[in-house]
Amino acid sequence: MDDPAHEPVLYKEIIHALRPRSGGFYVDCTVGAGGHAFGILAACEPEGLLLGLDVDPAALDLARSRLAPFGERAILRRRSYAELAAVLAELEWGKVDGIVLDLGVSSMQVDRAERGFSFNKEAPLDMRFDPTQERTAAELVNELPEKDLADLLYRYGEERQSRRIARAIAANRPIRTTLELAALIARTIGGGKIHPATRSFQALRIATNRELDNLEAVLPQAVAALRPEGRLAVIAFHSLEDRIVKQFFRRESKDCICPPDRPVCTCGHTASIVEVTRKPVQTGDDEVRSNPRARSARLRVAERK
Ligand code: SAH
Repeated sequence: MDDPAHEPVLYKEIIHALRPRSGGFYVDCTVGAGGHAFGILAACEPEGLLLGLDVDPAALDLARSRLAPFGERAILRRRSYAELAAVLAELEWGKVDGIVLDLGVSSMQVDRAERGFSFNKEAPLDMRFDPTQERTAAELVNELPEKDLADLLYRYGEERQSRRIARAIAANRPIRTTLELAALIARTIGGGKIHPATRSFQALRIATNRELDNLEAVLPQAVAALRPEGRLAVIAFHSLEDRIVKQFFRRESKDCICPPDRPVCTCGHTASIVEVTRKPVQTGDDEVRSNPRARSARLRVAERK
C-alpha cells in the first residue's frame, strides 16, 4: 500500500469494526482496488471468505491482482451492490459476518482522466462507474430540461446557484467535455474557497450513477444478510449519503417508529440493529494529509441484533 492514490480510507477502523475471524463470511460491496478487502482477508486467515463486488471492470482488474495471494478465498463479481441479496443467493451463501460499503468514487477513477470525473482533466463528460450503462453525464447535461437540471444540481450538489448554472448550460449546449463545463460554471458563478464546479460535478456523478437510490436499496438488504452480531460498516463522503445512512441506522435501531404524538404504538416495528457508532468516525489529520479522499469520510457501524 505504498501508492497513496490507493490507500483505503479508514482502513484500521474498518478492520476493527468487522472483527474478521477465520471461517467468517465477508462482503466488500465496493471492492475497488481491493484495499479494504486485502485487510479483511488477511485478518480472517486461514479460512475466512470475502465476496467483492464492483460495477467497474477496471477496479475489478486491480482487485483481482491485489487479492491473488488469497486464492479462492477471494470471490469477485462484476455486480451492483444494489443486487446484494441476489448475488448472495446465487452463491448459496447463508448469513454473513460482515459487510463494508466504501461509497463514492475511487482515487483510481478520479485519476484516470478519460473517465470524466475530474473538473481539471480534459475528457468527455462520462462519469459512469459502470461503462456498460447507457446514461452518461453528457446526456444529463445536454438533454435534461433546464428546470430538471437545476433541480438535479440543487438536490445532489446542494448547489445554491443551481438555477443560474442550469440557465448557462441550457444556453451553451452542446457541452462536450469536463473542462468546457467547468469553465462555463466558473464564468457563471465565480470562485470561492473550492472550485466553483465541485458541487455541480458531484451532483452529475451522483445522478449519472443513481448513487443515492443504490444506497437506499442496499442498506435493508445488508441488514437482512447479516447473522446476529454480524456488522455493517458504511463510509460516506458527503452529507447526502451520510444522512441516508444515519437515518436508516436510527430507524432500524428503534423498536417503535410511530409519530411521537401517538399515545400507543401501532407500528409493530422492531429493532434489527444496534448502533455501534453513535457519532460517525472521521479520519485523523495524518490520514487526510496523505490521502485527500479521506477528508470528508464518515464511518458508521451497526451490529445485527
Ligand atoms: N474500498 C475500496 C475503494 C472503493 S471506491 C478500496 O479499498 O480500494 C468505491 C468503489 O465503488 C468504486 O470502485 C466504484 O466503481 C464502486 N461502485 C460504485 N457504485 C457501485 C455499485 N452500485 N455497485 C458496486 N460497486 C460500486
